[in-house]
Amino acid sequence: MKAMVFHEYGPVDVLRYEEVPTPKPSSGEVLMRVRATALNQADIMARKGHPYRPNKTFPHVLGADIAGEIAEVGPDVEEVEVGMPVVAYGTLPCGRCEFCLTGEPNVCFRRGYLGAHEWGGYAQYMKLPAPNAVPFDPIKVSWEAAAAFNQVYLTAWHMLVTRAGLKPGEDVLIHAVGSGLGMAGLQIAKYMGARVFGTAGSDEKCERAREMGAEFAINYRKQDFAEEVRRLTEKRGVDVVFEHTGKDTWDGSVRSLVRMGRLVTCGGTSGYDVATSVAYIFHKQLSLIGSNYGTLQEFHTLVRLLDRGVFAPVIQEVMPLKEAPRAQVLLEERKVFGKLILIPEK
Ligand code: ZN
Repeated sequence: MKAMVFHEYGPVDVLRYEEVPTPKPSSGEVLMRVRATALNQADIMARKGHPYRPNKTFPHVLGADIAGEIAEVGPDVEEVEVGMPVVAYGTLPCGRCEFCLTGEPNVCFRRGYLGAHEWGGYAQYMKLPAPNAVPFDPIKVSWEAAAAFNQVYLTAWHMLVTRAGLKPGEDVLIHAVGSGLGMAGLQIAKYMGARVFGTAGSDEKCERAREMGAEFAINYRKQDFAEEVRRLTEKRGVDVVFEHTGKDTWDGSVRSLVRMGRLVTCGGTSGYDVATSVAYIFHKQLSLIGSNYGTLQEFHTLVRLLDRGVFAPVIQEVMPLKEAPRAQVLLEERKVFGKLILIPEK
């Protein structure tokens, strides 16, 4: 099969479009013909080998957000059949630890991820455990939309609904609202009946965020977003902050919260080391909440909502798999609004 691989960690030019062996599904696994793969910040981190080096061997194939059809089933697979359209749940759980056994494989400490620990979707085919292949309705949802939906909606849902317990009528501040994750957060917050304050790095992105339903959008390059949140909420602050940017925004995020507010974080695209005054945390009785991906059960719920048209994944550009290096540069330079999608050759 054709795949975009890399043989060493490094800048974008380590990516090579090559012929590699098509994976063979073992017992309990399926082979998926990839129809669309969406890019993620995690792809870039894995390619650089920073801050983590999950793959044990080279060449390696990136790509965690995959939609495709079942091409082959291994022995002992009953969940799905050849030809079924599916989206891939990205966590590879151990299935034996206390967290896996209670339905929380996203915090399994032995787990891996598709595209990180195992070959992912920057290829014509990929294999995965059968329970990770979740069927969707191809009449209602395109391949591109299914790939764009995948990880960001699950991550955002786990953050806002499961971990932060967002309620109707609450105010939520969503950072980098124009990113794939930010757009998912915006749509989920609106679905939950919250009022959305978004931050973005340009007036164009702010305007699009307002068109997509954000009540307020703040250009963080022109304004101190924490001051603006205070002004817009008449000094009250927001109930929930949706953090995934880390270092650059952390202190302002803490200062943007109302008393008893919750900050939920799933990452730090601008840096992991953050600092804030502990006085804010205890004086205002704030909650700092970690969130990591989501559960398979949540993913099934979200795919049903996707099939019903509740969400509209935002796609910036669809391009051939060969153009993965250009796509990664666009993502690194933050020149995207929504998701970038790669389509393998037929
Ligand atoms: Zn486990």
